[in-house]
Amino acid sequence: MRPYNDYFGEFGGRYVAEVLRRPLDELEGAFRKAAADPGFWAEYERIGRDFVGRPTPLLFAENATGELGGASIYIKLEGLANTGAHKVNNVIGQALLARRMGKTRIIAETGAGQHGLATAAVCAKLGFPCTVYMGEVDIARQRPNVFWMELFGATVAPVSGGTRTLKDAVNEALRDYASSFEETHYLIGSALGPSPYPDMVREFQSIIGRETKRQLDDRGIVPDTLVACVGGGSNSIGFFSPYLDSPTPRLLGVEAGGTGPRPGEHAARMSGAGDVGIAQGYKSMFLLDDDGQVQHTHSVSAGLDYPGVGPELAHLGTIGRVEFTTAGDRQALDALKFFARTEGIVFALESAHAAAAVIDLAPRLDADKAIVVNMSGRGDKDLFIAAREMHTDAWAVFLAEELERVGKAAPPKETPRER
Ligand SMILES: *Cc1c(COP(=O)(O)O)cnc(C)c1O
Repeated sequence: MRPYNDYFGEFGGRYVAEVLRRPLDELEGAFRKAAADPGFWAEYERIGRDFVGRPTPLLFAENATGELGGASIYIKLEGLANTGAHKVNNVIGQALLARRMGKTRIIAETGAGQHGLATAAVCAKLGFPCTVYMGEVDIARQRPNVFWMELFGATVAPVSGGTRTLKDAVNEALRDYASSFEETHYLIGSALGPSPYPDMVREFQSIIGRETKRQLDDRGIVPDTLVACVGGGSNSIGFFSPYLDSPTPRLLGVEAGGTGPRPGEHAARMSGAGDVGIAQGYKSMFLLDDDGQVQHTHSVSAGLDYPGVGPELAHLGTIGRVEFTTAGDRQALDALKFFARTEGIVFALESAHAAAAVIDLAPRLDADKAIVVNMSGRGDKDLFIAAREMHTDAWAVFLAEELERVGKAAPPKETPRER
């Protein structure tokens, strides 16, 4: 455990309405107590092993290494975790904490639906009723994840305010929490938000880094560079966590370069046009417009287009411990294809941004160096987007035929969503 922090340099804090101070104090107290209790971690590890499939493997990508020429590439296959991504590690930790606190209901926000999916699955397993707030635009874009969440028994609550995307879903979840915290836990999905969330989520995701370090130590590998994609920052901070207090290895965070450098085309907060701001309960680096409002962002990967970044990463970037770069939509898709062809694995589009940075970096390093990249998720969920972006005609034909099979020439005007 790293010591508990409210602030990381100038970033972090707890910028919330008065009504939320008491539940956040209560949460902080419960987290500190649980974190000091070996029984809590034993339960966390048991579920991680039996339900998630931990430890996730560390793969030597020998074919990719040979083709690129240069440093050896290792891939932490975090995407093999049940539910398809690292998000589940944090969800299990917070859900167990909620149970200890005597909470009987869980709420969450989701953008692409990955955090909502992990939350819905764990709530099914641990027996919590669960409501997932999701913007209407995201519901329309991410239909498969909505389908799975509902199958797990979660209520997906459409959010119609603002841009009807992730940040509006966060606001709606905070509103619910403010009036329901006596019985409800708000399960935030990344290492951001008001304290104690950034610290707590990092601890629950540090399992990725601890496992990777052990797997490297067992093979006698000293890594030169660790690479991870950065949305809110939870997979990267968890992956980097064992190394944060030492000067090596080099730590590289990869943000969404999208389609270009202009406002609205990317989500490069640390490696681009980010400003210090306060939003959604914490102080960090955000993409802001001239009026100080949170900017519109873009990425082909739904998990990397949040306009803010976790406060600890903002601090680590400021002091230079973590470096940041970007990979664009096209590079991410190319990286996904490259590792599918050479290694037989499919990166999630988010993680493919980190993979793209590795393709760039590996040939520039000597052959005795090792790069380790976190595959935060697997790409099954991105089938619809990847197939569309790769312009496969066969896919369009398949979709048309599928519509015919379900007996619909065109989608119905209104899909009934009440259950
Ligand atoms: C949500 C998500 C991300 C981005 O979130 P972080 O908090 O930055 O980790 C990255 N990869 C996958 C697969 C995701 O689902």
